[in-house]
Amino acid sequence: MVAAIASDYAVRGSTLTLREVSHSFDLEGQPLPVLDRISMQVGRGEFVALLGPSGCGKSTLLRLVAGLDTPTAGSLLTEGSEIEAPDPSRVVVFQDPTLYPWRTVWSNVALGLEARGLLRTHRGRIEDALRLVGLTGFAHAYPHQLSGGMAQRAALARALVNDPKLLILDEPLGQLDSLTRIAMQAELVSLWQRSNFTALLVTHDVEEALLLAGRIIVLSERPARIKAEVVNSQPYPRHRGDPHFVELRR
Ligand code: ADP
Ligand code: MG
Repeated sequence: MVAAIASDYAVRGSTLTLREVSHSFDLEGQPLPVLDRISMQVGRGEFVALLGPSGCGKSTLLRLVAGLDTPTAGSLLTEGSEIEAPDPSRVVVFQDPTLYPWRTVWSNVALGLEARGLLRTHRGRIEDALRLVGLTGFAHAYPHQLSGGMAQRAALARALVNDPKLLILDEPLGQLDSLTRIAMQAELVSLWQRSNFTALLVTHDVEEALLLAGRIIVLSERPARIKAEVVNSQPYPRHRGDPHFVELRR
């Protein structure tokens, strides 16, 4: 099945280029270097994992990619243009799903469209996004009625409702129990196979990176430097054009 939500775009995902990106925070007047000259390239439609120890600077790097912060040095580009501000074509899903408790699932997902003034014209996308993450039937539920995994699916739907070209995943399965995590790892890949986004996943879990990503970039302790880059020949089957592509089913 090719999702309706994905059919708006002919191009599958967007590219991402980092050139010598460094970042420091100011800690009581002292610079705290967090990222040290990170250069990398992500191709259209790739699923790349950034693997690194806790506190090494992974979330900081993702915030720069999302345009939520600007680097101390170096540049970040997508499709050849400098990343300067947040944009709905690049969305982050955080470890904590942060749903509004007083809004239904439908209404939480609608927020993504509302912010862009697209709710009236594109409301059908909400159903599409809920279907993509397997939450049809929970549209009218409130966050407190959802399990952790379902809440994270709702957060994914909210990210997907704008049909992003780059989906940035900051340890999105980190708070889930291990059975839910395993189920959702398969779902994430299936989602990626059926959609039009490039995926950049941050994790400190080696197994998760090996399971999901076609390429793994390994970061050092803080300040994060690229230690190694691994092409993973045997993750889940990777893309529709791949001869090994198999549709995953729930
Ligand atoms: P990771 O996601 O890999 O666990 P982070 O990117 O969250 O790591 O943090 C890297 C380092 O930067 C940590 O030492 C953290 O305390 C520090 N840090 C993160 N955000 C800020 C901030 N806004 N101000 C000061 N220090 C920060
Ligand atoms: Mg983090």
